Amino acid sequence: MLIQHVQELIGHTPLMALPIEVPNHSHIYAKLEMFNPGGSIKDRLGAYLIEDGLQRGRVNAKTTIIEPTAGNTGIGLALATQAHHLRTILVVPEKFSMEKQVLMQALGAEIVHTPSEEGIKGAIRKAEALAATISNSYVPMQFKNPANPAAYYHTLAPEILADMPAPITAFVAGAGSGGTFAGVAAYLQAQDSATKAVVVEPEGSILNGGPAHAHRTEGIGVEFIPPFFDQVRIDQTLTIADNDAFAQVRHLARDHGLLIGSSSGAALAASLQLATNLPANSHIVTIFPDSSERYLSQKIYTK
Ligand code: PMP
Repeated sequence: MLIQHVQELIGHTPLMALPIEVPNHSHIYAKLEMFNPGGSIKDRLGAYLIEDGLQRGRVNAKTTIIEPTAGNTGIGLALATQAHHLRTILVVPEKFSMEKQVLMQALGAEIVHTPSEEGIKGAIRKAEALAATISNSYVPMQFKNPANPAAYYHTLAPEILADMPAPITAFVAGAGSGGTFAGVAAYLQAQDSATKAVVVEPEGSILNGGPAHAHRTEGIGVEFIPPFFDQVRIDQTLTIADNDAFAQVRHLARDHGLLIGSSSGAALAASLQLATNLPANSHIVTIFPDSSERYLSQKIYTK
């Protein structure tokens, strides 16, 4: 494969039939999104948001892009804005992994920190406040922009369907902004309404009605119900403890040589749990959004 631009490497990631034992003789397939050039699923979103902004006339050659992010969206956006030479300011709650923040800066973005205690809501407020003071700025705002689920509806979901060797019994994915889950679930259910859509969250996220608190699984977990969830049928919500997610991260690294991030570990733990309640020989598809390397400082390999 001969390429000229890094952006050409976005998407068309492998779908892996996991070589693990699954309850009920079922099968789990994982979309390996760490093989995008910025290392995560969010490279798709960064490229899509900037393209959408350009097409709608909200972004021009002199626009400053501002976005609240847990990290991976920041890296994906920085990759996209660099290609257009746009100034980029990413608003990140302090607690998020240092590795991601270093990568955003390496790609030329500026970082503004908000206090960890204020969560993603604090970062959203700060991004909006900054935008009000910087002329010709644009906040794509992944948490409510319909281009977020659309990015996955039009790219990730058709790729999954093209590679799947059997009809999909269930689709399992974590939610941060909710864009991945809503976009892919809507597409798969439009193709086959029997496909169950199962959303995954860490303990401390609010989807299952539990109290909001801090968690160590990074990239998933919500402080408010994502607006995109209105557009999709959610069949089940599974809440996974940090330690169960990390146990799957260790399992895949040690036994199968696959380095996944903590939200991928949660997606796998949820898929295995779900398999016990599905008919035998079910086919479960999940997403592995990024790899272990950007969480080494978070000690996901230590119990
Ligand atoms: N996993 C990781 C590692 C992420 O960075 C994100 C994005 N925050 C997600 C999962 C969830 O993706 P989405 O925002 O589309 O729900």
